Amino acid sequence: MSKARILYIEDNLDNMILVKRILEASGYEVINAETGSEGVSKAEQLKPDLVITDINLPDIDGYEVTQRLKKSSQTASIPVVAMTANVMQQDREKVSQAGCDGYIAKPIDVDSLPDQVEHFIRGNKNVR
Ligand code: MN
Repeated sequence: MSKARILYIEDNLDNMILVKRILEASGYEVINAETGSEGVSKAEQLKPDLVITDINLPDIDGYEVTQRLKKSSQTASIPVVAMTANVMQQDREKVSQAGCDGYIAKPIDVDSLPDQVEHFIRGNKNVR
């Protein structure tokens, strides 16, 4: 079986480097996109096994990214996880209304990130 491929859409360089390092060390292939529209086109081209998206991006936000991915037949089946510091109840509702399969809280928990990602890849939507 080939390595699972993760597309990480993030404009913050520190987060991008951190997440890429952790996930590559866990055996995943990590592709980065720095804007929402770049993320949508890379998802269409590269068909990742999971998309992790930041919410605040320089062009379209992570909600819009998720809506576009879920609307397209090419990408609708790919799980999308929002990575956000906004974990109030209303924000969680916004994440799920946009079609996200879950969220990962910021600041990033280095120790639990690989497990969280593994569960999302396996389709478990109840991971925290
Ligand atoms: Mn951002």
